[in-house]
Parts: sequence; structure tokens; C-alpha cells
Amino acid sequence: MYVYADNAATTKMSPTAIKTMTDAMDAVWGNPSSLHTTGQTAKEALEGARAEIAALLGAEAREIYFTSGGSEADNQAILSAAFTGAKKGKKHIISTAFEHHAVLHTLDKLKKQGFEIELLDVHENGIVTPEQVEKAIRSDTALVTVMYANNEIGTVQPIREIGAVCRAKGVLFHTDAVQAVGHIPVNVKDDNIDMLSISAHKFHGPKGIGVLYAKRGVILTNVIEGGAQERGKRAGTENIPAIVSMAAAMKEAVETMDTAAAKIIPMRDKLICGLSKIPHSKLNGDRERRVPGTVNFCFEGIEGESLLLMLDEEGIEASSGSACTSGSLDPSHVLLALGMPHEVAHGSLRLSICENNTDAEIDHILKVVPAVVTYLRNMSPVWEALEKGEKPHLI
Ligand SMILES: *Cc1c(COP(=O)(O)O)cnc(C)c1O
Repeated sequence: MYVYADNAATTKMSPTAIKTMTDAMDAVWGNPSSLHTTGQTAKEALEGARAEIAALLGAEAREIYFTSGGSEADNQAILSAAFTGAKKGKKHIISTAFEHHAVLHTLDKLKKQGFEIELLDVHENGIVTPEQVEKAIRSDTALVTVMYANNEIGTVQPIREIGAVCRAKGVLFHTDAVQAVGHIPVNVKDDNIDMLSISAHKFHGPKGIGVLYAKRGVILTNVIEGGAQERGKRAGTENIPAIVSMAAAMKEAVETMDTAAAKIIPMRDKLICGLSKIPHSKLNGDRERRVPGTVNFCFEGIEGESLLLMLDEEGIEASSGSACTSGSLDPSHVLLALGMPHEVAHGSLRLSICENNTDAEIDHILKVVPAVVTYLRNMSPVWEALEKGEKPHLI
């Protein structure tokens, strides 16, 4: 049996998204900056997609900027806020320790340029509170950036409340909503969001395309310089087929969100229940406040990488954390942020399912994972020592 359970890394494009994209490659191939009919046809498709995406987010069309994906949107949002802040002498930025690297590495860069970066504790349950944010805000705070849903453990942050705190204090608020949009309700107005990042390939759209929402009045700084596309804020000829496909995928994801969740949540709960029965295993992140499809477990005494390779042989495709860090032997920065010891963080498994998964696939996972964990533990010198009581069990 083949089971794809790595939807937090990327999703398969939906048939609607593929058809919209391939149709557009043929029908709207013009450059939207051209004044002739072919160009203007492309421009209409571009603006139609912008309006559709804006409506799905509760935004205005002119607040939507197309980018090359979630990473670029995160970079631009943060660099823009930093640039605006620095001009007013504000060089303090608040974020969390378990953000995506697109956020953390951009913050690292700013730190080298003299910004003070304050990373809030996300606690053992993987949730940051509005009270923490309120306490951390200072008169020189240029930006608060907190992700909507975590890509490794799936926990959902109290974004609306954090947004309200930022708004009351007059501080810009950005959220990386890449794992949230298309999976849980997101509305930039209701959620008090000033800037938000989206990536199409996390909701069955194409890779290499995303959105930066920036509320009217927020000043953006260019990351890509060149032509005057995207209201002069992001140069480069727009990828119309990818953009219209993203709009179609997003519409589909938002409109079918409830039926999808009704199918995914019982499968996820079955996974959590089944994997919890493995001795010395632990679900990472809050049990309730999570996106429908993502489950992350630690299994003491084993290496995540070995587990992944053996699961792959059994037809199960999963991840040991974020796709960007797998391949390296460093434990996940997200699990370390939860306060997990290095030894345990190494033995993590992320299963991220979607509406295309089936109950039979979940049963297959629940048959294979416990067997592989037992097999690997029997080969592990660490496990031998733990079993003999020479080392204390950590979970
Ligand atoms: C995937 C992901 C990104 C990066 O998006 P790309 O479109 O792949 O650049 C950023 N943030 C989160 C939370 C993600 O899951």
C-alpha cells in the first residue's frame, strides 16, 4: 500500500488546480503589462484571481501581492516592517522560537544589522499566549510576527487575540498563515492581521506561488527590484497560470474546508489514539488546538531518519520535521522550543494527512509504525540502556 502522509511538506495539486493551470498556459499566456489585447486578457485573469483571493481572506484586492511563495512573503513582510520601524528608531521585533526558517533566518539577518529579536517561549503545548505578547511589546517594537499554525506539530495560535493586542498597542502584526489558509478559517479583518503569508502548494495548488497580504497603509519594501508589477512592490512578470491556479485551489479548499475537516479529523484522532499506545511515545503539541491534518510524535530511543526510511520501504511517506531540515542530523528547532531533550527530539515523526487519505491507509500506518518502532528499538544501544534502567526515561 502507498500512503502519502506528508501534506505539511507539500500537497498534490487538485484536478481543478491542474486544469485551471494548464488551460491558462494556453489561453492567457500574455504579459499583463502589455497594452495589447493578449496582454490585457492576461491582466484580466490576474486581477480576477486577485479579487477572488482577497474575497476569500476578507481583504481588498489591492491588499494582495503575489510572490514566489510563502518564504518570499515572510521575507518581505518582516523586512518591510523592519525598514519602516528603523526609520522611527524602532528596532525591537517579537516572534516565537518555533517559526518557519523563512521567518527565523530573516530575523537572524536583521539581528546582524542591529535589531533586537525577542523570541517568545511556546511552552510544552506549542502555544504562545496574547499575554506573553502584550508583556513583550515595548515603545520601540517594530513588529510582532507569530505563525498561525505550526508546520511541524500543527498547533494553532490565538491569532485573533494576539492581533487585538498588537492593534491596541499600535504595533504591526504579521502572521505566517501558510499552514492555516485552506485548512482552518482565516479572515484578516476578524483576526486583526496587518500582514499575512500564504503558499499555494500547501492547499493543493502549484509550487512557486504565494501571496503577501498587506493591509492598506502598511508600507512594503521591495525584496525583488525591477519593473512596476504588483503596485511597484514586487517586480517580475506575473506567473498567470500559477496565480489563477492558486486562486482556484484556494476557493476549492475554503469551500470544502468543513467537509474535508469532517473526514480528516476522525482519521487524525485515530492516528493519535493508535500511536499513543506505543510505550514511551508522546504526542507533540496541544491535543485540541491543532489543524485537522497534522500529527507529530516522539518515540524514545530511536532515530527519526531510520524510522522514515523504513516507513518509506513499507510505502508510507512521512517526515521527521520540516522538509528543510530533514537530511541534517540536527534535532528539530520546533521540538527543542517545546522543551524536548535532544535525545527525544531526534526520534520524531510527523504524519500530515489530507482529505485524499483513507481509513484503510490509517490502519496501514497503525500496523506498520508500532512494528518499525519495536524493530528499531531492539537494534538500538540507547534503548537497551533505557530498558535496563541505566538511563532515565525522558517521556
Ligand atoms: C511551507 C511553509 C513555508 C514556505 O513556503 P514556500 O512556498 O515553500 O516558500 C513557510 N511557512 C510555513 C509555515 C510553511 O509550512
